[in-house]
Amino acid sequence: MAIILSGKELSQRLLEEQQQEAGRLKVLGIQPGLAVVLVGDDPASEIYVRNKGLACEAVGIQSKTIKLPGDVSQQQVLDVVDNLNQDAGIHGILVQLPLPKHIDEQQVLRRILPEKDVDGFHIYNAGKLFTGQPGAQSCTPKGIMYMLHSTGLPLRGLHAVVVGRSNIVGKPIAMMLLQEDCTVTICHSRTKDLASMTRQADILVAAVGKARFITADMVKEGAIVIDVGINRVDGKVVGDVDYENVQQVAGYITPVPGGVGKMTISMLMQNTLEAACRAHS
Ligand code: NDP
Repeated sequence: MAIILSGKELSQRLLEEQQQEAGRLKVLGIQPGLAVVLVGDDPASEIYVRNKGLACEAVGIQSKTIKLPGDVSQQQVLDVVDNLNQDAGIHGILVQLPLPKHIDEQQVLRRILPEKDVDGFHIYNAGKLFTGQPGAQSCTPKGIMYMLHSTGLPLRGLHAVVVGRSNIVGKPIAMMLLQEDCTVTICHSRTKDLASMTRQADILVAAVGKARFITADMVKEGAIVIDVGINRVDGKVVGDVDYENVQQVAGYITPVPGGVGKMTISMLMQNTLEAACRAHS
């Protein structure tokens, strides 16, 4: 039976450190600030944004949410980002994705000052990750690495198989694992015989967006299985991994909910604190 890698527990432990860090900054006269830009009224996005606000409150980060209507123009979104870029009280800017179809997402992300890009999605920070230089790293993959490190297992030389190649999860986690000297295979919807790939994985990261897609027969005995997926099935949130059956085979497994999602928010707090620190150093 797999050991559960609980994002809930790890993020709770991190919260105490983050509260202390926010307190230390306040003594220095620095009030860390995060701005979240929410466009439209997607219910899932509203929940994420609310949770981010609650996390800020718990840590001691000042947060503000800028809500824009779904039919807002590209220029209006860019103007909001420009204002936040200039606002000295804001250290981190997060534009909640996805944006409505008529908005050029990449142009908006590129408009955020790289030093305020707490999501790590700016092409500059993505490039830094790609070239192995320190910079703001995307929250979800950063959280996954934190979970992997929490096992205390040496990662060097392990075969990591990432299913999914999105810019926000698949590609950055593959780069981070490569930097840890893992041998990395990236799979996607055109991969032939996916199960033969996933069965080779010492570390299996599922970022597909399909409920219970990774089944027990696709997992090597003892593997570390990281489930990134957030899927709603009959009003319940489930991951991309068939948790009940895969936990019988895996060595470690992350639950959904209470796994990677918790760490994502925790890393957003971390990135905001780091940005506030950098802004005043
Ligand atoms: P995307 O839809 O951008 O990417 C999904 C990836 O899965 C694509 O690369 C796609 O391949 C691949 N894929 C789809 N079908 C298959 C298949 N049959 N076999 C192999 N690969 C397949 O999703 P995201 O990366 O944004 O998100 C993935 C999941 O993670 C979602 O459930 C999302 O909600 C969740 N998520 C969770 C977060 C958290 O904090 N826990 C944060 C971000 C996302 P191709 O490129 O060929 O189309």
